[in-house]
Amino acid sequence: MKADLLIKGGTILTLNDRMEVLEDHCLVIESGKIIQICPFAKLKCDPAETIDASGCLVMPGMINTHSHLPMTYFRGLADDLPLDTWLNKYIWPLEAKLIDHDFVFDASVHGAAEMIHSGITLTNDMYFQMSAIADACSLAGLRVIVAEAMIDSKPGGDTAIESIGRKVLELREKYADNPLVDFSLAPHAIYTCSEATLRRSAEEAVKHGLLLHMHLSETKSERESCLHTHLKSPVQYLRDLGVLEARCVFAHGVWVDEVEMAMLASAHASIALCTDSNLKLASGIAPIKAYREKGVRLSLATDGVASNNNLDLLAEMDFTAKLHKVINHDPAFLPAEELVRMATIEAARALGKGDELGSLEEGKAADLLVLNLQELEAQPLYNPYSHLVYALNSHSIRDVVIAGSIVMRSHKLVNVNETELISKAQSYKARILAEQ
Ligand SMILES: [Zn+2]
Repeated sequence: MKADLLIKGGTILTLNDRMEVLEDHCLVIESGKIIQICPFAKLKCDPAETIDASGCLVMPGMINTHSHLPMTYFRGLADDLPLDTWLNKYIWPLEAKLIDHDFVFDASVHGAAEMIHSGITLTNDMYFQMSAIADACSLAGLRVIVAEAMIDSKPGGDTAIESIGRKVLELREKYADNPLVDFSLAPHAIYTCSEATLRRSAEEAVKHGLLLHMHLSETKSERESCLHTHLKSPVQYLRDLGVLEARCVFAHGVWVDEVEMAMLASAHASIALCTDSNLKLASGIAPIKAYREKGVRLSLATDGVASNNNLDLLAEMDFTAKLHKVINHDPAFLPAEELVRMATIEAARALGKGDELGSLEEGKAADLLVLNLQELEAQPLYNPYSHLVYALNSHSIRDVVIAGSIVMRSHKLVNVNETELISKAQSYKARILAEQ
């Protein structure tokens, strides 16, 4: 049998329904897909390239369900501030002056490269200049779902209702041959979008089978303002506008009550937990225990680096687990295995891509990570899930494969020059400071 790539050896975490962990197996990859998983002894294959994963952990690539890639150059620019001050005084005025195609493209290449280093193989992004983000991710080799944030309330922002969806459909057609890129619709949030924008977004999402990606109840004041203005809780308001008819990924979901949770659970809706961002901006702690009891699907996300300030899902798993153990006074709550599921297969399902991504199975896309276990901090190993959540960090990620292509080999990115990215970031810093 011919193959493009063979991954042999190592401990393979499949994340399939049986959560199988395989030893002495190999993955055969052809045309971007896993075509065979078999014991090494039974392998009959002539691969063009081989990754020796002996002594390593092999797992599905991690999926980031909420990001703002082009904000990379704003990392650390304005920290230790409340969300509204941060947005209104710093981020939005700067975006108004700086955001153009080149800025978005360059910042997104940087962010995509950083995500690959952190073991992210797909990110669900929301910003402006969709094709610049799509092209940047394609260059780095990162899989991406791109959306243009629709904002009616921002100075200069005024969503033309009849055009909602049109651009996304055009781009979907334009990028139809690009296996890395998909598009979604992103009304930014309740407090930034008109009822008409939300209603029309939902209609278009349902009509064209598009994912709907938006911020939801990140802060307490956001929820209170919805109750005051619309006399309804945020989820009820969205439901009444038809938004929950679409497949929805809601970022944050910090301030959501149990009635709202029941509505989310009975819809195709999920919450992208942004723990680090919520802690840093003191937005609050998402009620994960109640979400799980009500059956709401959960995934993990970094949010943008301007509010995080990193793109590290391994770290996100670690402190999400610990934070929720301590607030629930229960060390058994959120075991490591569940965090790993949230960062892989559950995230794929949240994005409507559970049949293609999120686990290592024959027929699925070859999006995977090889983590080096031959380091002091990785030994001894009794439970690989525990290591992923509590012991390893992104420096353990040695190789990254996306859609069957090696995009990071032995810690080095294949498609982009990291030294150039660093000097470019430094020159943008000078520009950003001059505009402040
Ligand atoms: Zn966000």
